[in-house]
This record gives sequence, C-alpha cells and structure tokens, in this order.
Amino acid sequence: MSTVTQEEIFKKLIAHCKEYGFIFPSSEIYDGLSAVYDYGQYGVELKNNIKKYWWDSMILLNENIVGIDAAIFMHPRTWEASGHVGAFNDPLIDNKDSKKRYRADVLIEEHLAKLEAKIEKEVEKATKKFGSSFDRQMFVTTNARVLEIQKEIDSIRTRFVEALEKTDLNALRQIILDCEIVCPISGTRNWTEVRQFNLMFETKMGSVADEAMTIYLRPETAQGIFVNFLNVQKSGRMKIPFGIAQIGKAFRNEIVARQFIFRMREFEQMEMQFFVRPGTELDWFEVWKEKRLRWHLAMGIDPNKYRFHKHDKLAHYANAAYDIEFQFPFGFKEVEGIHSRTDFDLGNHAKFSGKKITYFDPELNQSYVPYVIETSIGVDRMVLLILANGYTEEKVDKEDGTGDERVVLRIPPALAPVKLAVLPLVKKDGLDEKARAIVHKLRYEFNCQYDEKDSIGRRYRRQDAIGTPYCITVDHQTLQDDTVTVRDRDTMQQERVPIDGLLRYMGEKVSLRSMLEKI
Ligand code: ATP
Repeated sequence: MSTVTQEEIFKKLIAHCKEYGFIFPSSEIYDGLSAVYDYGQYGVELKNNIKKYWWDSMILLNENIVGIDAAIFMHPRTWEASGHVGAFNDPLIDNKDSKKRYRADVLIEEHLAKLEAKIEKEVEKATKKFGSSFDRQMFVTTNARVLEIQKEIDSIRTRFVEALEKTDLNALRQIILDCEIVCPISGTRNWTEVRQFNLMFETKMGSVADEAMTIYLRPETAQGIFVNFLNVQKSGRMKIPFGIAQIGKAFRNEIVARQFIFRMREFEQMEMQFFVRPGTELDWFEVWKEKRLRWHLAMGIDPNKYRFHKHDKLAHYANAAYDIEFQFPFGFKEVEGIHSRTDFDLGNHAKFSGKKITYFDPELNQSYVPYVIETSIGVDRMVLLILANGYTEEKVDKEDGTGDERVVLRIPPALAPVKLAVLPLVKKDGLDEKARAIVHKLRYEFNCQYDEKDSIGRRYRRQDAIGTPYCITVDHQTLQDDTVTVRDRDTMQQERVPIDGLLRYMGEKVSLRSMLEKI
C-alpha cells in the first residue's frame, strides 16, 4: 500500500477512535490540550486488558517477579541520581520560518529512516522484476544504487553517534545542514542553533511559596523500582535473579508531539527491572529480548510487522539495548525497549543517598551491586498498535441490508473491550427476555453487551466497529431447543451452540490464558 493510503487510513483510525468511544482529545470542549488524550468507554477496557495481559505475564508466569505501585512524586534527588537533571537532556532545534521546534536527533533519525525506505523501494522493485528467483541478500550487497545509499547511511550514522556521544551540539546541527534536512512545515533549511532542553514537568510541593520544594512529575516509572530495591528484596526475601514490575503514569514535556497517542505528554508505562549477578547480564538480556518478542507474537499479530532495532548509540548507563519496533501506519517505530542498564541506577542511588544498596549473594558468599535488565513498554503505544493492526475496511456480502462494506477492529479476542454481544433477533415473543437471561449468566465472566435496537445486520456492524469478537443471537429456534447462533467477528461465520455450553465455549475463545500459554 502506498504511504498516502496509509496516512489516510491513519486519519480514519483516529476519527474512528473518537466516534466509537475509544480515545478523545483531552478537554476537547476547550479545544483540547496538545498531545494529551482521554480514553473513552471502550478505550479504557482495551487499555485495562493490555495491562492485565502484561501484568499476568510478569507476575503469574514468573515466580521470581513481584509487582509494586510507587508514587508519581519522588524526592528530587532521585532525578539527579538518574541523570535526568543536569546530565543528558534533549537537543532542540527551531526552524526560523515555521517557528516550529524539533528534536535534532529525531530529525536525523527520520532522515536515516527515509534513506532506509529508499533501499526497501529498490528491493521491492527488484522483487517484482526477478520474481521467485530473487535473492535479497545478494541484491543488497551488490546493487550499485543500494550500495550508494547504504554508504550515505553509514557515513551519517557514524557522525551522528559521535556527535551524540560527545554531546556536540554544533556537530548535530552540521549533520542537519549537510543532509539538507528541511522543516516539514515550512520546507526551508533556515535552522537555529541546537540547544539542550529538559523535558521533565516541574511543580512545587508545600504550602508556603518560599519554602516550597521543586519536584518533578516522573518521566519514567523505573526509578520508583530502583529506590525500592532494598525494601522489596528484604521484605519479600527475594533471591537474585529476581524482577520488580510496575505499571504507572509517566510525564514528558515532549517537543515533537504528534502521531496521536504514539507520543504523548502524559502516558503510561509497563516496566520490569530484572536484577542479576554482575557478569551474567548479557545472557539475561538475550533471555528477556526473546521473551518480550514472544509476548507480542502470542497475540497472533503478523510477525513480519515486528522487528528488533539495535541502538547505535548506547545511553551512558547501558551496555546493550534493543527496541522492539512495530510497523505502524507511519513506519516501523519503537513500541518497547529492552536495556541492559548495568549497575548504574542502583550505584548512583547509593552515591546520592549515602545509603548502602547491595545484595548479599549466599551462593557466592559475597555482596555486590546487582546489574539490571529493563523491559519498558508504553501502554498507549500498545493500544495504538492493537488498533492500527486491527482496523480493517472490507467488502462483505450484505447482512440484512446494511450495505456491502464494513469497518471491523480485529482486536485479539482476549483484549477486546467487549467480549460478546447478546442480540434478540426481534424484540418480542420473549426473545428479549431470553437474551437478557443469557447476559445475566455470562456477565460475571465476560464484558457483555445487550442490544435490541435496529436490524440485526446493523447491530453486527456496531459490534464489528468496536471489535467485539462474538455476537450471540437469540432467535425463535432458541425458544424450542435452547440453542443460539454465535457469529465470529472475523469470518462472519455462524455456529449453533447450546446455551448451557456458552460459558465454556466463550472461555476457550476469549481468555487471556491462551495467549499466556504461548509466551
Ligand atoms: P522515543 O525514542 O520514542 O522517545 P524513548 O526511547 O525515549 O522513546 P523510553 O524512554 O525507552 O522511550 O521509554 C520506554 C517506552 O515508553 C517506549 O518504548 C514507549 O513505548 C513509551 N514511551 C516513551 N515516551 C512516550 C511518549 N511520549 N508517549 C507514549 N509512550 C511513550
């Protein structure tokens, strides 16, 4: 599909999310607040289901992982220790014509992504030309045009990594100039100098203005885990290796705030810090990298839409880092990061707090500062991933005069906001009462809806649009033999099932268990 079509589909998806109660712009009656969003009645269900899938995969499936829920406010020294205050902030650049502000590193990364896309185009062309005899590896290592682009990418990347490592703001700017990167709004190359910026939100704690302390809204949940390392380890008598998981809000005053809920100023993270013996971290890194990809693939999403991306420039605290990227409508983008953070965080908290933060390893009979593998994923990015992956417009046979097109959200059944809708074919002859009785029976286990309004075809369409995997229809035959039809959202096939067997039938189809078992 061409980029334009993908862009159009993305716009439609955003409109769909609003129309069907998934996601609304924040405080919309006041014209919204940039890069802040509210979840509506179906959005919150989807989000909760994703969180539960992640939480259960960590807590239920690993006997050595426990959860916590730390406060958003933390002592301000936390952020000195983590490096968020002072050390590494984001490099910013403004376009003088459009007056728009960008992250310099993002501009360069996007330029590199465009060059990579050019290579993919060449590969696509060649695949068409050579058909089944096409050898990708051979092509990308010999084709003159591809080699030329690759050389350009490599040279920019080398300069980019060097500039970031040295925090050389002038060098960053020079790359932007040399690559002739233009502002997407004004189309010009009239750039300011690159400056550093801190993306943490500040507020004051305390009632007396003079004595109030400046504190920050946490920009990541991870630090709440690190400062509680000893509390959890001691109170839970945890033995290394072990992990601490947490789901919670994080806040970043993002500069480039666009692409809907992909980059928000208030968002939610699901993070797990896994504490290991020094020297074993790279083995554990591999374990978690693979495990986290399996978590994604267990949802049944096309593996071709996923890829790993190795970090070129490691943060100063990391000795290995990979992103899991997903093919969003606007290209392959990070959804999750897996980082080997060494002993940087615990070590620095020990330094800044003056407290000893070590672990006594009874097997080695020695104390050390544990090393950490982090898995960090954005809840909202997962919501977007599920919606973007599931949004489908398709031609169908007419169902009860509702037209020959439908929009269906192919959300993995276990994550769907509403698991099943119970629909009486008509609102008389006792069919409605029978349908309500089924809802009463199933609602303890599943999020059910009852709907009796409009033709059955329209009701199916409404459920398709919010991604309900099953519609149970009560018809006249139900009154005779206590069976109902179950319509599958994706295939639109119907099956007759006894009412007695519904609980089990649905349980097998929509439970998280089937996904958890695949991880
Ligand atoms: P990016 O490069 O996209 O800014 P990052 O590398 O800064 O992301 P991390 O600090 O590694 O992100 O955060 C871990 C995860 O948190 C990301 O993979 C992403 O899913 C999520 N995340 C980070 N920033 C945002 C944001 N502004 N809005 C929504 N989700 C976010």
